[in-house]
Amino acid sequence: MTTIDGLPGLGSSTRVMLADEVYAVMQQAILDGTLPPNTRVNAGELARQFDVSPTPVREALARLESDGLVEKHALKGYRTSDLLNREQLREMFELRLLLEPGTAAHAAARRTQEQLDALVTEIDLGRQAVGTDDAYALLSQHDVRLHDLVFRAAGNATALTAYNRTHCHLHTYRLAYTGTYVPDTVEEHAQIVTAIAAGDAAAAESAMRSHIENSATRLLVTLDS
Ligand SMILES: [Zn+2]
Repeated sequence: MTTIDGLPGLGSSTRVMLADEVYAVMQQAILDGTLPPNTRVNAGELARQFDVSPTPVREALARLESDGLVEKHALKGYRTSDLLNREQLREMFELRLLLEPGTAAHAAARRTQEQLDALVTEIDLGRQAVGTDDAYALLSQHDVRLHDLVFRAAGNATALTAYNRTHCHLHTYRLAYTGTYVPDTVEEHAQIVTAIAAGDAAAAESAMRSHIENSATRLLVTLDS
C-alpha cells in the first residue's frame, strides 16, 4: 500500500533544516488533501521517499501531531486526522468568540502606532491577494497574520497562546481548501482595523464578533456542500 504517492520530493539541493522541510511538505499535503483524512502515514516510507534518515521524519510527525493534523495510534503508527465535524467547528468558533472580540477591544485601547501600521499594511496585502491565482493560500496566510497582529496589539500573550493552541487556521484552511476565501473576509478585517485605528473599543469588539460569526457561517456552508 502506498499512501504518499502525491507528495513532492524535497530535491537534492535543499538539504538544510530537514525536519522543517519534511514538516512543511507534509503539512501542505494534509491541508490541500493530497494526503486525505484518515490515511495511514508510514514513517519509514516517508524517510525513503524524502531520502532522509528517520529522525527528521519523526520530528516532523511529532509537530504534525501537535498541530492536530496526524494522530499516533498505539502499535499502528500514524494516520492523518479526520476533518473537523460540525460539533468541533461550533466549539472552536465559540471559543474564538470568547477570546477575540474582547481582544480587539483591548487592541483599540492599547495598540501602538507601530502595531497599527502593521495592521494597515496587512489589510493592503489582503486586498492585493484578492483575485490572484493563488488567492486561497495568500488570503489564508493573510488571515493568520491579521488575527495574530490583533492579539499582539492587545498586549495579551496568554490569550494569543490559547488561540494558537486551537490551530484553528490549519483546521479551517484544510476544511475549506476546495472552497473560496471570499473578498468579504478582507473587508471584514478592514472594519476591525478601522475601529482599532480610531481607538473605538466597542466598534472593534463588534466588528470582530461579526467577522467570526460570518466566518463560522461560511465554513458551515462549505461543510454542508
Ligand atoms: Zn479573519
